[in-house]
Amino acid sequence: MPTNPVLVVHGGAWAMPDDIVDAHLIGVRNAAAAGWRVLERGGSSLDAVEEAVVIMEDDETFDAGRGSFLNRDGKVQMDALIMDGGTLRAGGVGCVERIANPVRAARKILSESPHVYFVGEGAERFAAEHGVPLCRNEDLIIPRESERLREYLARGEDHPEDIFAPAISHDTVGAVALDRDGNIAAATSTGGTLAKAPGRLGDSSLIGCGCYANNDSAAASTTGWGEPIMKLVLAKWAADRVESGSLPEWVAQEAMNYLKQRVNGHGGMILLDAQGRFGISHNTPRMAWAIRTTQRQDAGIDRN
Ligand code: ASP
Repeated sequence: MPTNPVLVVHGGAWAMPDDIVDAHLIGVRNAAAAGWRVLERGGSSLDAVEEAVVIMEDDETFDAGRGSFLNRDGKVQMDALIMDGGTLRAGGVGCVERIANPVRAARKILSESPHVYFVGEGAERFAAEHGVPLCRNEDLIIPRESERLREYLARGEDHPEDIFAPAISHDTVGAVALDRDGNIAAATSTGGTLAKAPGRLGDSSLIGCGCYANNDSAAASTTGWGEPIMKLVLAKWAADRVESGSLPEWVAQEAMNYLKQRVNGHGGMILLDAQGRFGISHNTPRMAWAIRTTQRQDAGIDRN
């Protein structure tokens, strides 16, 4: 019997101000609609998460693709990972500067390379050789982000707020899906953190940190302050607990408690198992999410 498909997407977790709530809701709804179109016609969870993430990479609301945060040098530098829970194949890119849709490059690595991870120029070369168009870095930079960086740097060392406080934007995007064949998949894409040092890699593209998928356990995508998430290998931590029999809803919440208590981290997570049970949690004031199932079509900017 075919499984009922499920799709969950997120568009960041932080203290989003009221005036950008609508843009986030529209963005996650559009992403969920794109992923759901794939699942509805019997497509794979892998295709669904890719299509959902592409929509948010193209949407300047989010810190992924065009509109990403700028690094200290004023450049967009992006990371992404996609993973198939059935085969455990994965594709990741790190520190790419000339790819408008890093998740497309990650997918090519998953499908067409014996390797899992490419970074920098090598990743761009691989992408171009496999039909993913390259762009100029300037094409990914928008005035809002140039201004945000300018203001940030103008303050020099004088940053009244902690750069990693939840008030700082975490607009990384991600998706997890279950398809009719019972396979789960996950994808995460990000421009990283504001004014990051060039070459800094976050959690988003690291297997088991910002993204993970295994039919035996769960599919997960995280957002938030990357360094603490990496230290706990948080996506895999959560998937392991699901494999041991805990409910994704509970585990996702526990993961956020663990992140806070163990390393004072903050962020959010979406988590889905191969039975279609899911969790959405964050320890930040808000998180943008959307869900599609055969029974439910929903989106929110807060708790599930
Ligand atoms: N986790 C991402 C990173 O540290 C940032 C984010 O989620 O906003 O690169």
